[in-house]
Amino acid sequence: MILGKPLNQDMNLRPIKYQWAYDLYNQAVANTWFPHEVSLSEDLDDWKTMTDDERHAITFLMSFFNPTELIVNRSLALGVYPNLKAPEAHLYLAKQMWEEANHCMAFEYVLETLPIDREAIFSWHLNKPSMKAKEDFVTDYLARTTDSSLDIETLAGKKQFVKNLVSYNIVMEGIWFYSGFMVALSFRQRKKLKNLGSIIDWIVRDESLHLKFGINLILTILEENSELVTTEFSAEIRQLIIKGVELEKNYNEDMFPKGILGLNANYVNQYVQYVADRRLEELGMEPEYNVTNPAKWMATATDTLELVNFFETQNTNYEVDNRATK
Ligand code: MN
Ligand code: FE
Repeated sequence: MILGKPLNQDMNLRPIKYQWAYDLYNQAVANTWFPHEVSLSEDLDDWKTMTDDERHAITFLMSFFNPTELIVNRSLALGVYPNLKAPEAHLYLAKQMWEEANHCMAFEYVLETLPIDREAIFSWHLNKPSMKAKEDFVTDYLARTTDSSLDIETLAGKKQFVKNLVSYNIVMEGIWFYSGFMVALSFRQRKKLKNLGSIIDWIVRDESLHLKFGINLILTILEENSELVTTEFSAEIRQLIIKGVELEKNYNEDMFPKGILGLNANYVNQYVQYVADRRLEELGMEPEYNVTNPAKWMATATDTLELVNFFETQNTNYEVDNRATK
């Protein structure tokens, strides 16, 4: 069983039981990068030529992205790591936590370099209702998972653990982040902020593994705890994902009050629905929205395809569908 409080007998790496977690650790180490490898000076020039609405979109995006790295780390440190027994999963989570710290420092570097309104960045995520609602969604599930009256090894505890995973990993990392990456990378499509685009490429590469880890973890827990596999629980998970899509819709309306060149709230919302359907399928569920991908260029904007192939050749446990990252 991967889920449970680790005991002294759970401290030997060998024999490895969850090969996918071990493989993901090695892949994550191979993906290591540092923010200062990218120079942002051309982006600084771009910033001066951008419209107010374009600057608003980037500022809004950064306001959400900036704290989320540390929110994910809190979910991992308090909610996930203490409740998993497998040392190979702990190895992976240690690397993921460093990556989230590195993303935090990457955004710090961007905020130090571009003349973005830092006051807005640091305050909107606390007082813009559509953005605050997203943050609260994730932190509420973590709070319920870490409640001292909850025993993680009971049915209620296991369900709560999975719901926390779905909220921070599937909804936040797997849907909201992809929506934000698409918006950021759309500037590079229009020959702007291309170095920020390179940083986002590296972040996408990390996040695609965070998502693989989360999906494999959820599928493993469901396989090992068949009492969780009920139509009621599956419906609860689906509702969580639908709720995530609704929260993102309100947020996108505040990001694009008017729309910018090539991008508006409807376009981003359709991409969000497309990505949400891929996540549902990866969890073995039917799609909800059945829309086409409006941002097909995202296929070439990221290099996750290669990583996905690596992972599939290593992983014999599950066939995880990766269409959303292609
Ligand atoms: Mn991250
Ligand atoms: Fe992440």
